[in-house]
Amino acid sequence: MIMDNFDSPFLYNRPELDVQALKKSIVYKLIFSIGRSPREASQRDWLNATLYAVRDLVTEGWISTARQARADDARRVYYLSMEFLIGRTLSNALIAEDVYSLTKEALSELNVDLEEIIEKEVDPGLGNGGLGRLAACFMDSIATLGLPGMGYGIRYEYGMFRQKIENGQQVERPDAWLEKGAPWEFLRPSKRFYVAFGGNIHFEGKKCIWNPQEEVTALAYDQMIPGYKNDSAATLRLWSAHGGESFNLAEFNRGEHLAAVEARASSKNLSRVLYPDDSTWNGRELRLRQEYFLVSASLQDIIRRHKRTHNSLENLADKVAIHLNDTHPALAIPELMRVLIDEEGFSWQKAWDMTRRIFSYTCHTLMSEALETWPVEMMAKILPRHLQMIFDINDHFLEYVRTYITTDNDFIRRVSLIEEGYQRKVRMGWLSVVGSHKINGVAAIHSDLMVTSTFADFARIYPERFTNVTNGITPRRWLAVANPQLATLFDKYIGTEWRYDLGQIKKLETFVHEKDFKKAVADIKYTNKVKLADYVKRTLGIELNPNALFDVQVKRIHEYKRQMLNVLHIIARYNAMLANPEKDWQPRVFILAGKAASAYYAAKQTIRLINDVASVINNDERLQGRLKVVFIPNYSVSLAQLIIPAADISEQISLAGTEASGTSNMKFALNGALTLGTLDGANVEILENVGEDHIFIFGNTVEQVEQLRRDGYRPFDYYQNDVELRTVVDQIISGQFSPEEPQRYLPLLQGLQYHDYYQAFADFRSYVEAQNVVDEKYKQPDQWIESAIQNMINMGFFSSDRTILDYAKNIWKVEPIKLK
Ligand SMILES: *Cc1c(COP(=O)(O)O)cnc(C)c1O
Repeated sequence: MIMDNFDSPFLYNRPELDVQALKKSIVYKLIFSIGRSPREASQRDWLNATLYAVRDLVTEGWISTARQARADDARRVYYLSMEFLIGRTLSNALIAEDVYSLTKEALSELNVDLEEIIEKEVDPGLGNGGLGRLAACFMDSIATLGLPGMGYGIRYEYGMFRQKIENGQQVERPDAWLEKGAPWEFLRPSKRFYVAFGGNIHFEGKKCIWNPQEEVTALAYDQMIPGYKNDSAATLRLWSAHGGESFNLAEFNRGEHLAAVEARASSKNLSRVLYPDDSTWNGRELRLRQEYFLVSASLQDIIRRHKRTHNSLENLADKVAIHLNDTHPALAIPELMRVLIDEEGFSWQKAWDMTRRIFSYTCHTLMSEALETWPVEMMAKILPRHLQMIFDINDHFLEYVRTYITTDNDFIRRVSLIEEGYQRKVRMGWLSVVGSHKINGVAAIHSDLMVTSTFADFARIYPERFTNVTNGITPRRWLAVANPQLATLFDKYIGTEWRYDLGQIKKLETFVHEKDFKKAVADIKYTNKVKLADYVKRTLGIELNPNALFDVQVKRIHEYKRQMLNVLHIIARYNAMLANPEKDWQPRVFILAGKAASAYYAAKQTIRLINDVASVINNDERLQGRLKVVFIPNYSVSLAQLIIPAADISEQISLAGTEASGTSNMKFALNGALTLGTLDGANVEILENVGEDHIFIFGNTVEQVEQLRRDGYRPFDYYQNDVELRTVVDQIISGQFSPEEPQRYLPLLQGLQYHDYYQAFADFRSYVEAQNVVDEKYKQPDQWIESAIQNMINMGFFSSDRTILDYAKNIWKVEPIKLK
């Protein structure tokens, strides 16, 4: 190809890297890219200069990866996701490029401390929680495995929100993460597409014509995702809606941050803000527009790239796989159909065959309140052509279903892509299943439940489509970056291969009983606890004892995750300690963190209760510092990197059948925390991998939960029959933790007494007993540390590299690029 003559050989060659060269490069960036002299540079200037210098190291491999994929004419996979919770870029890139110590040295010659400037980088506000973090781990694995893959998302100007705690309550502040500059990204001025909305459709014969009403420009920004030590990098392309009026920060500050967006649902606001809902679903017009914005711009880009080498779309399905991370980008299905039929002149059947071969879809939930639907009326207004296409898809699909299910009208009603009723709705989950050739759940138990509950009807129609791919996490960020001391220790014992082949970690088994190894692991845990304690002291003024057991629950605040169950136990423990102060109680620190969606009242009340309980307990001198409760504000990837390596206990206590997989459970175990969990999500597979002696399992199973629900669950009976539980509930209701407003938690607790949808009361007794077993085990440090090590060394299965290889082989059918 002609272009290749221009692409190579490279004009720029990665310099022979030594401390002096790197130092020169950083100073050069500081002066010529930032415009500061070393003498007056702030810490942030040094950070940005370092980011620019390190970015240069990644760029060449990035360009050659893309060129090689083009030259190979490789089949590619495109990962569409409304969120990518990537975390800080510098520390990760330093590890990937293997220049951490070199950079540290170069900076120290400039009197700059690397660790200090790393801490200055703000987390990109591009995701909410687990789903977005999963996408980020997947990009890291795609890059490290050298797969021809690319991520597509939205470059939100404002992330979810910055969480502050004032008087114990969550306060939402705008997360203007771009304000400090984003030196890692590349603007791609030539990648510019137009996304159409609204208007009307009419038919000319069989041909459908769409006359849109408005058009928005999508501009591409690229983030490089460096592969681990492979001179390769993947692309995460994020779309920004062009133009825009100023954003009302005053409304934001009043905590009406969704209202502030909603009121300005103009086209220019499309990439303004990330919706903060997580696990619940809220239909909002702007969100629908955002989803289509992502889908339309990405598909135009994918098609442009394909046409550049193939001139036609005939073989698109041979060369392209598109993955839908949840239903959020499911409009890609009717959009591709529209492009193929309306713009490219394909027949319906041909277009549909191609579409189904191209798409695959990951389901992330089972809870009905999380399943996306859009009012037909709203879609008619914003995307009239797509609605028409969905009707057509539905007609074809139902016709197919009727060929062998003829008698059961209720079945047809249930599987229809359109939910009938007072307000007709488009079912995005159903659309995703019908339009994909593979649908996967994210943990074994979740995939099993998927085909017996949510998608049971579809599993009858398309049994071959449903499969499982258990989630994973990247060992680069969650061990090498987050816990450098532990990573270095592992390197010393088994070499560095575990960093890209986590199965190797099992080799440490030889050292499980070796005294020096155990001591080193224990010392590192202690150091990490001291580091976290320092942070808590510095930011919250609370003193923590690093010899105490650190019991951690950090994740989005949601009723199904049952932070309330955690609180109930904390209070029960408090009562027990006061009743028997002389007993040699195992000192404990309970650490919680997580954001509540801004409109989620019960979640916000839970945060407040945690803080109210914390202030009573932390100030009760009778406890002699043996019990502490801390809520760390503004949970994020960088906080996770600080908190998780310091944990002894990982709380994974969702009601069985509600947490699809969880991924923090894997991060904790890899860092040597023991799981205290229910038989839910990936906890089940963690149990299988680490063995029952090294994990604390409690609570009802999925079957028991369902049985209880069928029999009529009566939480009030548990309240009446369990003295300890009753005491705790009465204390909260009577205002013992909110004396200035005794009724504060009445609604929250009555909700538990009379409904308790997530059956916290039913699992309370079993949870308290498991917590007592935890104490007993912790009193035997040698046993404990062996169990911690068993957790680490049995996490090989939970690497996102394994997950991505599974997707690549069984769903996407893509192979690694042959990197030169
Ligand atoms: C891993 C991670 C999550 C997901 O946690 P779960 O406990 O699996 O829900 C959420 N937020 C951040 C910042 C994470 O790193």
